[in-house]
Amino acid sequence: MLHPGDPFTEIAAPMSAHAFRPQLLLVDLQSTHPSLLWEMELPPPKPFQAYCIISALEAGHLSLPSQLVMEPFDPAHPAPMLPSLSFLLLHSTSRQKMLFDLGIRRDVWSLPPGLHEQLRTITTTAVPQTVVESLAKGGLHPDEIDFVAISHLHWDHIGDPNDFRGRTKFILGGESKALLASAYPTVPDSCILADCPPADQTIFLSSGANEPTRTVALEVDAKWEPIGPFPRAYDFYGDGSLYIVDAPGHVPGHINILARTSSDGSWILLAGDSVHHWDILDGRARVAVDVTSYPAFGRCMHKDVAKAEEHIERIKSFRTMERTQVILAHDLRWYEGEKGGNSFFPGSIPPA
Ligand SMILES: [Zn+2]
Repeated sequence: MLHPGDPFTEIAAPMSAHAFRPQLLLVDLQSTHPSLLWEMELPPPKPFQAYCIISALEAGHLSLPSQLVMEPFDPAHPAPMLPSLSFLLLHSTSRQKMLFDLGIRRDVWSLPPGLHEQLRTITTTAVPQTVVESLAKGGLHPDEIDFVAISHLHWDHIGDPNDFRGRTKFILGGESKALLASAYPTVPDSCILADCPPADQTIFLSSGANEPTRTVALEVDAKWEPIGPFPRAYDFYGDGSLYIVDAPGHVPGHINILARTSSDGSWILLAGDSVHHWDILDGRARVAVDVTSYPAFGRCMHKDVAKAEEHIERIKSFRTMERTQVILAHDLRWYEGEKGGNSFFPGSIPPA
């Protein structure tokens, strides 16, 4: 069984991105540390098990150069338009409502100036329907949303939090706090917008790390526990229905959501930006590293490639388990099969 604080970081750290071999990672870890059982079962449902009814929400589209995402890539599709999905998670018994990510705001020019060059020259956006308009299609108003969990602070996931200025609480990974403390306009060229989400509505799930303090914002000392292949997860409602999963690698504070989708043992992982294309999860491609053509993005889509690749291996392990499904934030394959269909609110995603 994996426990928080297991020597995972030390095992993963020496592995350079170039030396990464997906098939070997599991073998190496398990032979060196046989106690690290990535195949740990997901917990069985309890009597009257609570779960989440999950709906996809249209929340804008963006183009992303494939070269940045994976190698090899299909040169016939150098920069496909990808959805930037949001999800509504309705708790089956309390009827509390959580959104996971808010997609793209319609007025992208209200984002920090540091992003404008990228928006002019690299990334095309289209927002025919914002997340608020998607909620309205099923008769929901932003004031009815209890929580908005944000996978991470990139502009294509934060939408416009000012649409949720009522009673909604925002949930962020603890390491996001440091990013917000040095965001625009305090740091003029930062691509992250301070006070977005609003400080007085934000709850950080602390990892206990020593982070700069932000006034007003709340901090929960989350109890992180292992579940399935994931070493750090927070049982959000305390009933095993919805876990916030620490998903390191993409940017500090990045989180996924792992939720039960029925009372009888089905699960979904909403993987945010842990991975951007199914060919990577299916083993046909790997994370692109040392890309120099788009300096605005850095040399890789992931800030910490080794941690990102390790988490991708965990997602692969999750996929081998019974009655599981995975949806990515920019899941073009899933979107092309489901757009306009019943998986979108007011419909819901069928359990695996
Ligand atoms: Zn991102």
